[in-house]
Amino acid sequence: MKPAPFDYVAPSTIKEACTLLAESGGGATILAGGQTLMPLLALRMSQPFVLIDINKIAEIKGVKRTSEGFAIGAATRQCEILTDAELARHLPVLVKAVSHVGHHQTRNRGTVGGSVSLGEPAAELPATSVALGASIEAHSVRGARRIPASEFYLGPYMNVLEPDELVTAVHFPSWAAGHTTLFREVAQRPGDFALVGIVGALEVNNGAVSRAGLAWMGMGPTPIKARQAEQKLVGQQIANIDADAIAELAIADTAPFDDAHASAEYRRTVGKRIFARLLREAFNVRQAA
Ligand SMILES: Cc1cc2nc3c(=O)[nH]c(=O)nc-3n(C[C@H](O)[C@H](O)[C@H](O)COP(=O)(O)OP(=O)(O)OC[C@H]3O[C@@H](n4cnc5c(N)ncnc54)[C@H](O)[C@@H]3O)c2cc1C
Repeated sequence: MKPAPFDYVAPSTIKEACTLLAESGGGATILAGGQTLMPLLALRMSQPFVLIDINKIAEIKGVKRTSEGFAIGAATRQCEILTDAELARHLPVLVKAVSHVGHHQTRNRGTVGGSVSLGEPAAELPATSVALGASIEAHSVRGARRIPASEFYLGPYMNVLEPDELVTAVHFPSWAAGHTTLFREVAQRPGDFALVGIVGALEVNNGAVSRAGLAWMGMGPTPIKARQAEQKLVGQQIANIDADAIAELAIADTAPFDDAHASAEYRRTVGKRIFARLLREAFNVRQAA
């Protein structure tokens, strides 16, 4: 199959890209790593009049330390996250999550902004952005805005972006040094999208949870924030935490579905198990120390 005809442009600045988006009147599509878009073009499931290739925009590449944490440029390749020493030290769960995104080859092209914008409900980066409390920076000819990741997704592959908006960065807040990281996913094969997965971080002060960020992959039409479990965890002495009860609460916020790969019931059962086990492992570690 060949893509339907389109005009191709490759701007070199955010300003240029936003002007092109505005001028296209909604008929343009942004090309980042192309790992999802190229097959969609070839299958003619995406037929833009203009393809705006953002791979030449240096402003939206790279990992930067900021006063609030880290700003990751939207066109940063996923593989760059795996080799970033600062991220490995300060946001290890982000690095762990990205190591589960696709394959070596797809991570060499796939971008952070592409995965976050695409909004695949089982994807690691959108869920990690929701769990860690990230915000998404979007630009248009009208200016720039920040959208909390937890408010960014409307449904499968649907986000709140206007047709003329470009994601330029994902901003991750700092988490305390030595915070507890939680990541587990179940997939049929390594590199497949998760059937079910959970990602998160916990801060513990004086033996009690002082901050919790948790989100599910593959457990609903969007990445799902496990709000009830977060609220229940904060303030609890870790020695008194009932992992099964917390896992039950975390599942209560989900809306899993049946598909060719797994039933909703399978996702709920496995989700509860892996989360409870993860909590027990995390706390046992802490108690042992
Ligand atoms: C074999 C295979 C396995 C995969 N497995 C996984 C997996 O396990 N987990 C996972 O999370 N992903 C997986 N992926 C998806 C892939 O890794 C990318 O995350 C995904 O394709 C999006 O990134 P991209 O940069 O390639 O975006 P593209 O394919 O270029 O674009 C995707 C969509 O996002 C839009 N977009 C891109 N950048 C921006 C921006 N800056 N602003 C606004 N809109 C934008 C595009 O217009 C398009 O609609 C897999 C892909 C393949 C081919």
